[in-house]
Amino acid sequence: MPSSRTPTQASVAIVLGPPLPRGTTSRGVTNVTRQPTHVGTVIASPRGNPQSGANVRGNQPPQRHLPPSAVRIRFALLASDAHACTRCPRMTPGSAVLGNRNGPLTARVVVVGEAPGRFGSHKSGVPFTGDQSGIYFERLLPHAGLTRRDIFIANAAQCNPRDDAGRNDKPSVAELRNCSSYLRGILDLLQPRLVVTLGRVALDALSLIEKHHIELATQVGTAVPWHGTHVVPLYHPSGRAMARRPFAQQAKDYARVKSILNSPPVPVPSQGRG
Ligand code: SF4
Repeated sequence: MPSSRTPTQASVAIVLGPPLPRGTTSRGVTNVTRQPTHVGTVIASPRGNPQSGANVRGNQPPQRHLPPSAVRIRFALLASDAHACTRCPRMTPGSAVLGNRNGPLTARVVVVGEAPGRFGSHKSGVPFTGDQSGIYFERLLPHAGLTRRDIFIANAAQCNPRDDAGRNDKPSVAELRNCSSYLRGILDLLQPRLVVTLGRVALDALSLIEKHHIELATQVGTAVPWHGTHVVPLYHPSGRAMARRPFAQQAKDYARVKSILNSPPVPVPSQGRG
C-alpha cells in the first residue's frame, strides 16, 4: 500500500552545537532538530536523498568509513522517520522499534528478527525481551560468544503486525517491502561484519534489499556473502520454531557464529551488490 504520509523530501538542518544525541524519547529514539534550511544539511528520509544512506541510493554501494558522529546523526534521522511512518495501514503509528535500545551503532553483528512482538519489544522498545522468543534468544546468545552490547538488533518490519484477533502476525510481503528502506538504511549505516538472520522472514527481507538464494534448512550457521558483508542464517527463537529446530541444535548453530567471528574475516566478492 502506498503511504498516506507526505514523504519527507525536505532538507533538514542538524544542529551540531552540542553533539547528538540531544535527547531521547521514551522509546529510545534520539531527538534531532529539523529546520528548512540548506546550511549544513543532511536528509531525514530513506526515500528522500542519497545522503541518507538508505535505499534512495538505488544500486550505489553502501558508503564506507563514515565518521561515528555522521553515523549517529543519520541513524537518529532514520529512527525519527520510522517513528513518523504510516506506510502500513495495520501498524500503530509511532510504534516502530528503532532507536538507541536496539543496540550500539558500532556493533560488528546486526541481528535481523521478524517484527516487534506485542508483549515484548512493542511495549519495551528493546528487541527480544518480555516474551518467549526473547527468553530463548537471551539463552542462545551466549553460545555465539556475544552479549547485547556486541549486537544491534533490527527487524524485517519495524512495527508490530497483528491479526484481526489482535495476536502477533507475520509481516506481509507488502509490509516487508514498505519497510525495506529502513532495514537497508540500518545495514548500510552500521556496515556490520556479520548479518545474522533469525528465521525465514528475515531472509525474505534481505532478498528485497539484494536478491539472494540462501536456504535456511541447508545453510543454517554458514556465512554467505551478501551485499558487501556475510549473512549467517539462523532459526527464529520462537517456541514454534523450536519445534522444528530444538534448542540444543540452535545452540550449536549459534556456536558456529562464534567460530566465524573468531576466524579471520573472509573478503567479500564485490560482484552482485545491490
Ligand atoms: S512496518 Fe516499517 S514501513 Fe510499515 S509503518 Fe512501520 S516503519 Fe513504516
